[in-house]
Amino acid sequence: MSRFLSPRFSAMEPYVPGEQPKEREFIKLNTNESPFAPAPGVALALNSERISKLNLYPDPVAKEATLLIAEYFGLKPDQVLLGNGSDEILAFAFQAFCDVRRPASFADITYGLYSVLSGLYSLPTRVAPLMQDLSLEPDYYYATEATVFLANPNAPTGLALTLEQIEQILKRNPNNVVVVDEAYVDFGAQSAVSLINSYENLLVVQTMSKSRNLAGARLGYALGNAELISDLNKMKFSFNPYNVNSLSLLAAAEAIKDESYFKRCTDEIIRVREITRSALLERGFELTNSKANFLFAKPPKLGGGEYYQKLRQLGVLVRHFDKERISDYVRITIGTQEQMEALLEKTDRILEGL
Ligand code: PMP
Repeated sequence: MSRFLSPRFSAMEPYVPGEQPKEREFIKLNTNESPFAPAPGVALALNSERISKLNLYPDPVAKEATLLIAEYFGLKPDQVLLGNGSDEILAFAFQAFCDVRRPASFADITYGLYSVLSGLYSLPTRVAPLMQDLSLEPDYYYATEATVFLANPNAPTGLALTLEQIEQILKRNPNNVVVVDEAYVDFGAQSAVSLINSYENLLVVQTMSKSRNLAGARLGYALGNAELISDLNKMKFSFNPYNVNSLSLLAAAEAIKDESYFKRCTDEIIRVREITRSALLERGFELTNSKANFLFAKPPKLGGGEYYQKLRQLGVLVRHFDKERISDYVRITIGTQEQMEALLEKTDRILEGL
């Protein structure tokens, strides 16, 4: 830390991303990326003619991609805002909708960026504990006088609320914004997008990092009523008006157009997730009923940290959170069927060696 850092930030704990090691080839099942390439149209669109136009700024209102996303979800263009990853959209939402009198409310076990953003913006928080079985208790979010942040499905548990449960939370918070972070919704949970035109307090946040295979392009978007989107635009144009680069905007447009490729990729992830889940259950693992592109798994006979380390030595990376209540678990991203077979084979070696 330099002596110049503002004291406001001296105690701040930044977000720690999953490892991206370069020193060795790992089977990488640790950051919930897709194992598949982006839609074929993406590579065709990012051609040398487009690259030669990188001397120009991107469209600050991302008109084409915004129109396509709006059309895809049956919304109007002023109900959509693109971000540099959904992380950026979340940052805008924390800034726009929380303050000293309006805390941010979220679960004790959820996406780590929520508490980091609360720290960055010096916001009070209202942390709601998950139930014993790691499910989320909707009651905790009723009439909170806080801005509610729900990851649905939740991370790293993969557990999802039903649309009815989300709607109850919206009904019980008429004066609070409810942000539903649907980063993993395309792998089997119910989206709240259909409620947008009925609830002015609903903001849905999605990403192209997982189900559209574009984590490297950094593309997320917010969907909500026009006033909420206008508030977020105020944040964006006060921070980084050209927030999404022109190549990523082209990639977003191509990815949203190719519904059949999207469906094929997400169906395959769901299929491989269920096969892997059964295989781990057979081996004595405890698992949540994940609706995401990862499993949350507690190995038999060894701790989560030890299993993570042993897998790492054998060339497989998963994610372990050294955190109360979940330190016995690891989060395993769903890769290709071959990658998951390799995980199972290494797991058998580990369990036999105990
Ligand atoms: N929300 C949740 C719940 C996540 O797990 C992630 C991925 N780390 C994100 C949002 C952010 O995704 P991105 O910024 O890549 O869109």
